[in-house]
Amino acid sequence: MEPLIGKTKDEYDAIVSSLGEAPYRARQIERSVNAGRLIDEMSELSLKLREKLKVDYTTFALDEKSVLTEEKTDTRKFLLRTQDSVLIECVGMVYDGKLSVCVSTQAGCPMRCAFCESGRNGLIRSLTSPEIISQAYIVSRNMGMPVHSVVLMGSGEPLLNYRNVKEFIEFITREDTLGIGVRRITLSTCGVTSGIKRMTDDGLGVNLSLSLHCAVPEIRKTIMPSEEKFPLSEAYKACMEYRRASGRLITLEYSVIDGVNDSMECARALAELIKGSDCEVNIIDYNPTEGYRGANKANTAGEFAKKLKRLGINYTIRRKLGSSVAAACGQLKSSYEAFSEKK
Ligand code: SF4
Repeated sequence: MEPLIGKTKDEYDAIVSSLGEAPYRARQIERSVNAGRLIDEMSELSLKLREKLKVDYTTFALDEKSVLTEEKTDTRKFLLRTQDSVLIECVGMVYDGKLSVCVSTQAGCPMRCAFCESGRNGLIRSLTSPEIISQAYIVSRNMGMPVHSVVLMGSGEPLLNYRNVKEFIEFITREDTLGIGVRRITLSTCGVTSGIKRMTDDGLGVNLSLSLHCAVPEIRKTIMPSEEKFPLSEAYKACMEYRRASGRLITLEYSVIDGVNDSMECARALAELIKGSDCEVNIIDYNPTEGYRGANKANTAGEFAKKLKRLGINYTIRRKLGSSVAAACGQLKSSYEAFSEKK
């Protein structure tokens, strides 16, 4: 089955002509698909045309397999299946009555950060742009709300799937699709310098978030092996260039892990790195995962934050949503078993 979502005008024209239908049908189908309707829901099309379309096409590139809901925050984690049977996850979160969707850009992840479930078994494959687009639509349909903002923070390193990620951003920002402004899209990278430079050159304009987690290279290497290939010092410089060119603030993500990256030495290294910049530092209380439990004390993030305060660094302690359904940062892992266990 071929997904209709994400196709160009010419491609819709070609589909309609191959089905022997009048050319105006192409725009009707395109409008319906971009509004997120399934083929059976396209009531402006004749029943005959819908039946013809259903032989080879579906609206989305993914099937919804299962949904877990954290009742108190209405955070929902979705298990979705690609047409070649790869399982991926994405998350819908409601803040102040508005829906934010966290999408995956790859199935698995090659970066293998120690604290992250998504990279535990390496990369399966990069997702196509229709597969990334479908996540936003499927979450919106399920939760009955328009998508207000999107974060590219699910499984995968978005900048290692640059072309499809760019297509995704270009698609969802269009007025005739989800109409999400670039200021309401945040891309998170663990520091793929070449990709950050491409974002600058292409004028992508979305918010940029750098998964920093430690500014001491030797310690960072132990939790983020990607430090070898993509040193933080270079990635940070590329981020600052993006900041200058795009005008967007850069957010630095820092998951605090007891005894690993919460020392005064680590706080000082962070202060030294960001001296004179206007980056926003997000402190995250590390979410334990099956493969890397860590041993956070009750207030590990709070204690580290105090050290930053003493050094004059401004920070925000990020709200924790979805940890009871393993939908919080670093907990997405595309495992059907995880869904079965918690049902
Ligand atoms: S934190 Fe991000 S880059 Fe690192 S393994 Fe997980 S998904 Fe990949």
